[in-house]
Amino acid sequence: MEYESPGHPESPERVKNTYEFLNTKGYEFIDYDYCQEEDILLCHTQELIDSIKSNNFFDPDTPNLPGIYDYARLSVGGSLKALDITNKERISFALIRPPGHHASKSKLGGFCYFNNIAITVRKSLKKCAIIDIDCHHGNGTQDIFLGDDKVMYFSIHRNGYFYPGTGTESIRNCMNYPLHYPSESDWLKAFNSIISKVREFSPELIAVSAGFDTYQDDPIAGLGLREDVYEEIGKEISNLSKPTLCVLEGGYSDKLPVCLFNFLKGLEYST
Ligand SMILES: [Zn+2]
Repeated sequence: MEYESPGHPESPERVKNTYEFLNTKGYEFIDYDYCQEEDILLCHTQELIDSIKSNNFFDPDTPNLPGIYDYARLSVGGSLKALDITNKERISFALIRPPGHHASKSKLGGFCYFNNIAITVRKSLKKCAIIDIDCHHGNGTQDIFLGDDKVMYFSIHRNGYFYPGTGTESIRNCMNYPLHYPSESDWLKAFNSIISKVREFSPELIAVSAGFDTYQDDPIAGLGLREDVYEEIGKEISNLSKPTLCVLEGGYSDKLPVCLFNFLKGLEYST
């Protein structure tokens, strides 16, 4: 909650409000620590790390702020902690920022510095299905895992003239489902198709890039999803009965806390 760029939608209030809301629902929170530079090197180039560490970069969406290297490293640490919890408890959710799925091997972008979920999946050494339900295509995650037989990447995202403009078709182990707004029924159709493909792939670990900017009133994105639908989504993922780790990506509306809570309720369905 310490870093912010005034007026930026990726604000501290996102996690603050969600944290407070989940607290009232009785959720427990676990502390975590910075990841090591060698963890980041599992997915990113030394050049990218050095440019962030020395605050020597410019991206219109991804602010260059004092101490951002440590905040980004802390976010990766939260995702890695979630992996530990998943190994013990089967399901975990990392309520972290900055998000990560737009960070590719050598480039930051789209509010993302390091790819939290990608680093965590690599570190797990497990056969993994990544399900990206954020409204935007996880171009960074695709860049990192394209051609990696151990990982399948699935993404449902908004199509057209929409950031980052990638994911218009499936390629090798990266299955993409671009959709136009609004699309709740098409979204669920695509999601169900992903669920059966994940079942066929039979991964040891499921990692979810959990973005909630698909919510119908999200101020910067949206795919027409109503807040109750997140419970159904969580339930379907839970029914796969696999160790599951979820990492917060986007979600910028004031309904983020309730959308996320509904998703957790669904995930807990079969535990
Ligand atoms: Zn997004």
